[in-house]
Amino acid sequence: MRGLGELPDPRLVLSVPRSNRPRRSAAARDDAAEPDLEMLRAGWRRTETRQDGAWNVQPMAAAGAVKDYSCPGCGRAIAAGTAHVVAWRADGVLGEAADLEGRRHWHTACWAVRR
Ligand SMILES: [Zn+2]
Repeated sequence: MRGLGELPDPRLVLSVPRSNRPRRSAAARDDAAEPDLEMLRAGWRRTETRQDGAWNVQPMAAAGAVKDYSCPGCGRAIAAGTAHVVAWRADGVLGEAADLEGRRHWHTACWAVRR
């Protein structure tokens, strides 16, 4: 057992940079509040064309569904832990970030029958 004098000064420890990774932008920090957003950007998705335009569609695995969503197709809740799909416009004029902001979570079946 060593004396307390052996411990590093906590102020010095805190001042040491953890790594040389570049800082994330303010927008990226906002994403951190929505854990599924990074997944949507990075993950696999497909584009579907509907009567009202092109939509990005990404399946959400049950493990990724960590909170309840309201399905715009039937108006009922998508319970956490339920596999479903996330859809957002692929042809929005405001850019993908804005489109992602407007993304909606759908029951897989509700999206399939959407017109
Ligand atoms: Zn539904």
